[in-house]
Amino acid sequence: MRTERRVIRLGLGAKFTLTVLTILACTMAANTLYSVYASTRFHEKQLVERGRALGRLISLVSPEAILGFDFLLLNDYTRQVSAQPDVVYGVILSPKGSPLSAYIDDSDPFVRARINATGSTDITRLLQELDHQPELIRLEFPIVHNDVELGRFLVGMSKQSLHAESRRRLAFQLIALTALVMFLCAAIYLAFRANVLFPIQALISASRNVGRGQYTRVDVKSEDELGQLAQAFNAMAEEVRREQAKLHRQANFDTLTGLPNRLMALDRINQAINRARRTSQRFALFFIDLDNFKSVNDSLGHAVGDELLVATGMRVQAILRDADTVARLGGDEFLVLVPDVVNELQAEEIAERLVRTISQPQTLSGRKVVARCSIGIVVFPDNGETAAALMANADNAMYQAKASGHGSAIFFTEDMNTRLHQRMQMEQDLNQALELGQLALHFQPIYNAAARCHRGAEVLLRWQHPERGSVGPAEFIPLAEATGQIVAIGDWVLEQACRKWSQWHRAGLGPDFLAINISRVQFRKRFARRLGELMTTYEIPPHALELEITESVLLDDHHHVAEELNSLRAIGVTLSLDDFGTGYSSLSYLKRFRFDVLKIDRSFVSGLPDKPEDVLLVKAILAMAKGLDLKVVAEGVESDDQLQFLSAQGCDYVQGYLLASPMDETAYGRYLESLMVRAEPVALVATRNRRRAGTSG
Ligand code: C2E
Ligand code: MG
Ligand code: MG
Repeated sequence: MRTERRVIRLGLGAKFTLTVLTILACTMAANTLYSVYASTRFHEKQLVERGRALGRLISLVSPEAILGFDFLLLNDYTRQVSAQPDVVYGVILSPKGSPLSAYIDDSDPFVRARINATGSTDITRLLQELDHQPELIRLEFPIVHNDVELGRFLVGMSKQSLHAESRRRLAFQLIALTALVMFLCAAIYLAFRANVLFPIQALISASRNVGRGQYTRVDVKSEDELGQLAQAFNAMAEEVRREQAKLHRQANFDTLTGLPNRLMALDRINQAINRARRTSQRFALFFIDLDNFKSVNDSLGHAVGDELLVATGMRVQAILRDADTVARLGGDEFLVLVPDVVNELQAEEIAERLVRTISQPQTLSGRKVVARCSIGIVVFPDNGETAAALMANADNAMYQAKASGHGSAIFFTEDMNTRLHQRMQMEQDLNQALELGQLALHFQPIYNAAARCHRGAEVLLRWQHPERGSVGPAEFIPLAEATGQIVAIGDWVLEQACRKWSQWHRAGLGPDFLAINISRVQFRKRFARRLGELMTTYEIPPHALELEITESVLLDDHHHVAEELNSLRAIGVTLSLDDFGTGYSSLSYLKRFRFDVLKIDRSFVSGLPDKPEDVLLVKAILAMAKGLDLKVVAEGVESDDQLQFLSAQGCDYVQGYLLASPMDETAYGRYLESLMVRAEPVALVATRNRRRAGTSG
C-alpha cells in the first residue's frame, strides 16, 4: 500500500506572517519577562523597605518597654508588626537570643505548613526553620539604649503575595501581548497581501497566460520594486507578443503576397473539414498553377514575376467572398478554399471566374502580361476525407488540366489517381531501365525525296518493359523530362548512337548521318561540350550527326539557348527543328536561331494531298524554308500520294512507314548491308556539306 505523503506548502504570505509573528512574539515576550522581573525586584525592595521601617520603629520604641519589663507592651508591638501586610512574624530577642516577645502569623499558609512540618511550637526552632526558606525575607535590627544592646528585633516578610502579584501581572501581560501580536500579525498580513501578494499573484497569472499565448497587462499602481517588476513584465510580455505575432506571420503567411501559406492553408482546410462534417456541407478546393510563369520570370525579370504573383493573389481575392481563403502554396501555385459549395456546377462557375480573372491582360512595370493558369478542383468529401488527400488530388487534377492545355480547370476523378500511380510506378521502373539494359535504339531511315535514295536514319528510343512489353518514347520521354532522368537517358542515347555510327562506318556501311532527338532538359546541361567529347572519342565528323530539337527548347532562357546553339554550330553538326508547326512556332525563332533543317510534323503530312488546309500549310512551310535556305524533312509519309505530292513540291527528305518503319540495330545493320549490295548513290552528302559550307562561310 502506498502511503501518501502530504506536503504542506506555505505561501509567501504565511511565511512572512510566521516570521513576523516569531520575531514579534520573541521580542515582546522578552520585554514582558524583563518588565515583570524588574517590577518584582522593585516590589521586593519596597517590601524590604517596609520591613526596615517597621524594624527601626520597634528598635526605637521597645527599649523603654524592655527596661520597664513591660512585656505586654512588647507583645503589643510584635502583634502590631505581625498584623502588617506580608509580615509573617515579629520577634524581640534578648541579647542572649531568648525570645522576649514573639508574634507569628500562623494564619499564613506557608508558616502553618512549617509549624506542621516541625511539629513544635518552639519559637527558636521555628525561626531557624523559617530562616532557611527563600520565600521569606528575614530582617534583623539591634535594640540599643545608651550604647547598650538590650536585644534584637527580628521581622520575617513573606514574598508570597509579591510572587502572586507577579504571576498575575505576567498572565495579564501575556494575554495582552498575544492579543497585540495577533492583531499586529493580522494587520501586517493584510497590508502584505494588498501590497505584495496581490501584485505577485497578478504577475503569476499573467505569466501563466503568456505561456498559453494570451497576453494580459498587469496593472501598475505603485512605483516600488514590485511596480517596477510589473512594468518590466509588461514590457517583456509585449515584446514576446510582438515576436510571437511576427513568428506566426512568418510561419503562416507568404511574405511576398501576404496571403496565407501552405501551412495556414492546411490549417484552414482542416477547419473546413471539421465544420463541413458537423453541418454535413461540402466545400471546394481549387489548386491553381500559372502556366507561363517561368517564361514571364525569364523574359521580363524576377521583379515582374513577383509583381505578377502579387497581382494574381489580389485579383483572386477580389472575386471571392470574405469567408473564402486564398493561399499561396509556393512558386506560382495558389489554393482557393470555398466553403458551402452546394454542387459541382457552382464550383465550375467559380473555376471559370478564376481562369477569366487571372488571364485578364495587365500591365506590370510597363510591360503587358497575360497570365494563364491551370486549375485542379476537388470537393469535400467526394474527392478526399483528409486535407492531405484533398491537396494531393487537387494537385493531380491540376497536373491533368495542365496537360490538357492552357487555361483549363478540371475536376478530380478516381481515374487520375490510377494514372498517377501508374506514372509513379513507371518513374520507378524507368530509374532502373538503363542499368537493366531495357533501353534500345531503333533506327528509321530517311530518304532523299527526289532520288528516293537512303541518306541516314532518325534514332528513336525504345523501352522493353519486363511486364508491359515495348513502351513508346511518347509515353516515357515526357516523364523522364519531368523527373530529370532524361539527362542520363539522353546521354546514353547520344553515346550509343555515336558508337553505332562509328562501328557501321568502320564497316563501310554508312549511313551518311544519324538524326538524334535532344530534349530541352538535356539542352540546359552544357550539352555542346559533352557532344564534342563524344565526337572526339568516336571520331565522328560533324556532318554525320543531326540534332533534332523541338520548338519548346527555344522557349527557355533565350540567351543560354542561343549560346548553346552557337556552340553546336561551331562544332558543325546539323541542327534540325523537329515537329515544326505543332508547338509555339514563331517565325521570329527561325530568324533568331539558325537551323539547317525543318521537320514538318506528321500531323500536317497525314492530310496530304486532299486536305486543303494541310496542302496550303505544307506549301507555305516549303516556300518559307526555301527562302530561309533550310532543308525540309517530311515525317510520317504513309502513302504514295503523300510522297508524290511532297517530291513535286520540292521537299528535300522524306521519312515514314511507306518507306521504312523504325527497326532495331541488327535489322538496320542488315538494311545498310543490303543497300551496299545495291550500291546507293552518295551525291546528296556532298550537297548537304556544300550547303553548310555556304551558310557558315
Ligand atoms: P519524332 O522525333 O517526331 O519521331 C518521329 C515519330 O514518328 C516516331 O515515333 C516514329 O516512330 C513515328 N513515325 C515515323 N514514321 C511514321 C509514320 O509513317 N506514321 C506514323 N504514324 N508515325 C511515324 P516514336 O518513336 O514513338 O517517337 C515519338 C517521339 O519521341 C519522337 O518524335 C521524339 O520526339 C521522341 N523521342 C524518340 N526517341 C527519343 C530520344 O532518344 N530522345 C528524346 N529526347 N526524344 C525521343
Ligand atoms: Mg525527331
Ligand atoms: Mg518529329
